[in-house]
Amino acid sequence: MALILLTNDDGVRAPGLAALAGALVALGRVVIVAPEQDNSAASHSLTMRRPLHVREIDANSYAIDGTPADCVMIGVKKVLAERPALVVSGINPGPNLGDDINYSGTVSAAREGTLLGIPSLAVSLVAANGEPCQYAVAAEEAAQLAALVLKDGLPPDTLFNINVPNLPAAELKGRRYTRQGRRLYDNAIQETFDPWGRRHYWIGGGTPRWSEEPETDVQTVLAAYVSVTPLHLDMTNHRALQGLVEG
Ligand SMILES: [Mg+2]
Repeated sequence: MALILLTNDDGVRAPGLAALAGALVALGRVVIVAPEQDNSAASHSLTMRRPLHVREIDANSYAIDGTPADCVMIGVKKVLAERPALVVSGINPGPNLGDDINYSGTVSAAREGTLLGIPSLAVSLVAANGEPCQYAVAAEEAAQLAALVLKDGLPPDTLFNINVPNLPAAELKGRRYTRQGRRLYDNAIQETFDPWGRRHYWIGGGTPRWSEEPETDVQTVLAAYVSVTPLHLDMTNHRALQGLVEG
């Protein structure tokens, strides 16, 4: 029976985590190692200036007072008795498309699994802020892909970034493999004043503009397909490298 490490960036109490656990138990033993608190947009940060504590919730569920990447690293190396066959991160209640991948704790947890040599998936729902989430639909899609990856593996140094449109199952058109698009924000820094009249800034909100190139993750979810983007650990621009001349 496959051992699956499940984590997220929204914290161990998040409903998306529970929904994903419920769908993955059909594939193996699921052990949750997730952050105590919401770590959305924590990216791939590691906690290195204070100690980390593991709290056992039950035999298959642990919380760590750290980041998503901390959870995968400590989960694999210290919490689990054996190496997992799969790392799954999610379900995030918002998209991780285009440029957002750089900030995403959900994607970074899966990237940490890939760095450790374990096939890994990140799962996100393309839901707007405050919109009710179709977690069961996304969990079922994720479980189908997890079964495929358990059977066939993934290419070397590659993780799957999965984004599921927030629609009833009957309205999903299918699944497509995509490339990373661009997702640009207007007004992403809110400039306001505190009760004492001091100016402050709050990053968040704003109006996202989605790039219009076809076959990208952003256009695929807009067309009501599940988007699966294979992300690579190597961020080298190989085309640029070929054109660069050493002096
Ligand atoms: Mg999140």
